[in-house]
Amino acid sequence: MALAAASRDEICGLLLGRDDAIEAILPTANVAPDPARHFELDPAALIAAYRAARKGGPAVIGHYHSHPSGVAAPSETDRACAAPDGSLWLIIGGREATLWRAGPGVAVNVNFTKTSLDGR
Ligand SMILES: [Zn+2]
Repeated sequence: MALAAASRDEICGLLLGRDDAIEAILPTANVAPDPARHFELDPAALIAAYRAARKGGPAVIGHYHSHPSGVAAPSETDRACAAPDGSLWLIIGGREATLWRAGPGVAVNVNFTKTSLDGR
């Protein structure tokens, strides 16, 4: 959170865990061409995390990114780029962080549902 607040660019990384319990976060590089306005997870880090999961490590259950604008909610770009795969999206804006699940949408591609992890 402090790191996100200190960055003008969007920061991002992976959420690792099992059964929706976040056990670890893995910061990755933001490789988007304009990191102040968008994020793109470093594909090498993503591949490495999936490979580690296949070898018995924690699963990739979602990812996090920050909004330098301070709004801790999915942006239009997030909605446009998301896949309705049930993964978790932790969005950090200002001093707030909110957790969402990307599920199938009715009239839209993806529907973000605000969620929590039972106090974890
Ligand atoms: Zn976003």
